[in-house]
Amino acid sequence: MNVKNLVRPWLRTLEAYPPGKPIDELEREYGITDSIKLASNENPLGPSPKALAALQGALADVHRYPDGSCYHLKRALARTLRVSPESLLFGNGSNEIIELVVRTFLHAGEEAVMADQAFVIYRMLVQAQGGKSLIVPLRNFTHDLEAMAEAITPATRLVFIANPNNPTGTIVFNDQWRDFLAAVPRDVVIVMDEAYAEYVEDPRYPDALADVGGDHLVIVLRTFSKIYGLAGLRIGYGVAYPPVIELLNRLRAPFNVNTLAQVAALAALGDDAHVERTRQVNREGMATLRAALVGLGYECVPSWANFLLVRVGDAAALYDALLRQGVIVRPVPVYGFPEHLRVTIGTAPENARLIEALTRLRGAEARGGAG
Ligand code: PMP
Repeated sequence: MNVKNLVRPWLRTLEAYPPGKPIDELEREYGITDSIKLASNENPLGPSPKALAALQGALADVHRYPDGSCYHLKRALARTLRVSPESLLFGNGSNEIIELVVRTFLHAGEEAVMADQAFVIYRMLVQAQGGKSLIVPLRNFTHDLEAMAEAITPATRLVFIANPNNPTGTIVFNDQWRDFLAAVPRDVVIVMDEAYAEYVEDPRYPDALADVGGDHLVIVLRTFSKIYGLAGLRIGYGVAYPPVIELLNRLRAPFNVNTLAQVAALAALGDDAHVERTRQVNREGMATLRAALVGLGYECVPSWANFLLVRVGDAAALYDALLRQGVIVRPVPVYGFPEHLRVTIGTAPENARLIEALTRLRGAEARGGAG
């Protein structure tokens, strides 16, 4: 029996998401130690010390189910963002909110508009739902909002924008966002995925939260996985008009956000110093890494996030050579960038390690070429 015949037709061709390689897996496979991972846009400083302390205090209670309503976290976050608690929904990573949005608003056969080289989960979830992705090419590595608005048809229910975009690190500017809203029908749900928002320091970055509850159905997504350093606990959130939140909540599993995630997120939210330190390390690391990569002859896409998309040529070969040196970066062929690697900005010693490895490989290449 071919079990594939038992599933809906669109699931037969769906491929699973390829995550960044875990350090433990690399070290097991290659028999090496002291590896570094610059592959999944995690916070290189780790979690906030306040989150770690709060976790210690919560461990003895893990025999209890979590608070399904995230009561304390929801109130604290509502104050921080200056939104009502009813506008918030937490998920097992912001990834789960993307899934809830697709399952809630998209019927099989309906369309979602997204950029070609944006976060690949969007098109996977649309396919899983039996929907159709209308794929719009990037312009200068950035979402082309004008073309995305034009791509909308009467069958379009959703639009996805990643701002900053993964894997390019680029942003759309406020004037483009305003023109886009003016062009989009009011019954189309607009997902503004701001997983890296806290890294952006550009005054042209749109304040999409201010558009929640306005004329359009805007859902803003954020996460504790990136600047807050809690990727392993899985917690993210959506901000939307309360009736939208209420609909999403109907499909949410009762205890989707675990106790430790809630406790750590609450503490991390109160640690501005850790967030500021992270921003600083990122700012400095980005400048150092970019200069070194350009010095080595690589092109880098301008980035507003905590990673760089770097054009290296034979990306698969370089990825492999770096793995052998204990450095994990991210190949991005699944995003349609077979000649690029995505590199997360690390701590200063991690960035230096990557540069050393690349310099060594360049040297070996030159010697090989001469011989
Ligand atoms: N959106 C974007 C643009 C991302 O890059 C990621 C993580 N790679 C996510 C959403 C999902 O993050 P999480 O589920 O950890 O919140």
